[in-house]
Amino acid sequence: MSNHKLENGIKKPVRSKSGVTPLTVVLKPRKCNHGTCIYCPGGDFVPQSYTDKSPAVMRALQLKFDVRKQVESRLNALINMGHPTDKIELIIIGGTFLQYDLDYQYDYIKGCFDILNGKESKTLSEAQKINETAEHRIVAMCIENRPDNCSVEEIKRMREFGATRVEIGIQILDDEIYKKTARGHKIKDVIDSSQRLKDAGFKLGYHIMPGLPYSNVEKDIEKFKLVFEDESFRPDQLKIYPCQIVEDSPLAKMYKRINYKTYTDSEIREVLTRMMRIIPDYCRVMRVMREIPKEKMLSHAASTSIRKEVEDELRKEKNNSIKEIRIREIGFNKEDLKLDTKLKTIEYDSSQGKEFFFEIVNSDDVLFGLLRLRFPNETFLEELWDCAIVRELHVYGQALNLHEKGINSQHMGFGKLLMKEAEKIAKDAGYKKLAVISGVGVREYYKKLGYNLEGTYMVKNI
Ligand code: SF4
Repeated sequence: MSNHKLENGIKKPVRSKSGVTPLTVVLKPRKCNHGTCIYCPGGDFVPQSYTDKSPAVMRALQLKFDVRKQVESRLNALINMGHPTDKIELIIIGGTFLQYDLDYQYDYIKGCFDILNGKESKTLSEAQKINETAEHRIVAMCIENRPDNCSVEEIKRMREFGATRVEIGIQILDDEIYKKTARGHKIKDVIDSSQRLKDAGFKLGYHIMPGLPYSNVEKDIEKFKLVFEDESFRPDQLKIYPCQIVEDSPLAKMYKRINYKTYTDSEIREVLTRMMRIIPDYCRVMRVMREIPKEKMLSHAASTSIRKEVEDELRKEKNNSIKEIRIREIGFNKEDLKLDTKLKTIEYDSSQGKEFFFEIVNSDDVLFGLLRLRFPNETFLEELWDCAIVRELHVYGQALNLHEKGINSQHMGFGKLLMKEAEKIAKDAGYKKLAVISGVGVREYYKKLGYNLEGTYMVKNI
């Protein structure tokens, strides 16, 4: 199928293949407090980690980074492209949001809710209340962040905003390389932030950067193994962005002096293939390769289709042992789909807590839905006392409007089944309550399952 052909009348179907339609907004330019990581473009007129040729940034530039106008224009574009817009994941990109001044942060988030609600509210919480039953609901919210910006106070604020997922740049677990690349944080910050974020119920994504200066293929793989072997890390998601030399970055000025070369396509392919073999069942690779326009690159522009090529090769392998989530999702495996589904549970230690990863799979291991249940290590939020916590409930399939019917796993009752299992396991372990880190726009769903809003979580006595 060509990219432009319609699937169910929807252009670019991959965008909403996992059930929720993403809407990305970009922050106004601002330098990170610690300075500039050497590979970061760090421009003065565009957000620090982007170039003025990235599509999302170009759109935001035209609108002078006004978040209300960005939401309005993206919403209209998604509607025109035929995407469902009743379940939206708001994604905030461009810099370290939590480092902007507080008024900007609160106004930014409220602006997003107001536009999606079609009316202006007096306060953020009023806007969120309206959004619970609005036509365009924010069912998930992602904030890009740094490992050293996840204090208890910052985590509380992210919950106040309605965030459900946090992505942190960890690049490579190596303090020496952190120092040499001016990351401004240490492995210890990755460990602490991972634990706090998981204990607060967030879905946790890591950004990994193979091919940094002072690393090599073997070192990248060795450090990548640690991400899953050591329970201090174990993220739910990954973005894998091989290092590139971008115009105006500090690396652009020093790469000749330090004799640095980026990975070739075949090295990237090798690293990616080896990483895919390491990634466990509970982790999803959200994206591979950053889309940096060729004219902004001083190094050779690696092919953006490498992920697809690697996945195609891996799929061809007999008895392929790839466990990664995306490759197993129903949306990417519709041919000859067997409906002999069963519930599978994987239990693992994670950041001093216990995780249960429930999946609904068929006999070919195709994934229909998943739930992440956590018995936290430390509960620092009052509303989570005595609670086990559901960090994610996701039923896969092409995003459909809430009232639309279709051949799809979203409306087959898998969500309820997974929640029941989570309640049972938590109760058997002695927990009195189960909390869900629900996006504002999913609160109604949990109300129907007997959950009530406590603080920013949906909570039920079990
Ligand atoms: S933390 Fe991110 S945005 Fe800030 S300088 Fe480093 S790469 Fe750029």
